[in-house]
Amino acid sequence: MNLEVLEFLLDNENYIEEMAKGVGVDSNASVGIVKLLKTNGGDLSNLKGKQTFHYEKVIKPLLEGVQCEGPIGMIEDDEGNWDTSCVNGGIVDDESLYQSYLEEDFKCQIFRYDAENMR
Ligand SMILES: [Zn+2]
Repeated sequence: MNLEVLEFLLDNENYIEEMAKGVGVDSNASVGIVKLLKTNGGDLSNLKGKQTFHYEKVIKPLLEGVQCEGPIGMIEDDEGNWDTSCVNGGIVDDESLYQSYLEEDFKCQIFRYDAENMR
């Protein structure tokens, strides 16, 4: 588990609140579980019942499989669906995730590297 990101989320609870709202659960409970995970070093084996639900639906999507927006952001395809312009699988890798949260710019490593070299 990316504990750096976990800590960031506790300092910026709005990410958790928005995700909880989308799922329709109490964000205070979600925040409580993030705190718990931070305390026990990301150990999921202590979670039970509803806590697991909060983790799967609210917390995990913020930690894993976060969508990379690609080099030019989200693009609209021929059918009018918004899709990532990323050609690298569309997922922000673990290494880039903390940086992505800090910069509010969700990109996987390949494009982050390119962007930095183009400056
Ligand atoms: Zn990407």
